[in-house]
Amino acid sequence: MAEELKIQGYCVKCKEKRQMKNAKKVSLPNGRPAAQGVCPECGTKMFRIGDPAKAK
Ligand SMILES: [Zn+2]
Repeated sequence: MAEELKIQGYCVKCKEKRQMKNAKKVSLPNGRPAAQGVCPECGTKMFRIGDPAKAK
């Protein structure tokens, strides 16, 4: 079972900050780290730029 990251993201559908569900670390095409997950309330994809390991 993969470790679930606790990352705050902004859901554009709820218009609120929420903790991402199924958050995972991804890399942008330009090499910058980012995090991607889904909203626990509505299931909309959430995205946040920045290294999730450092953004605490
Ligand atoms: Zn939402």
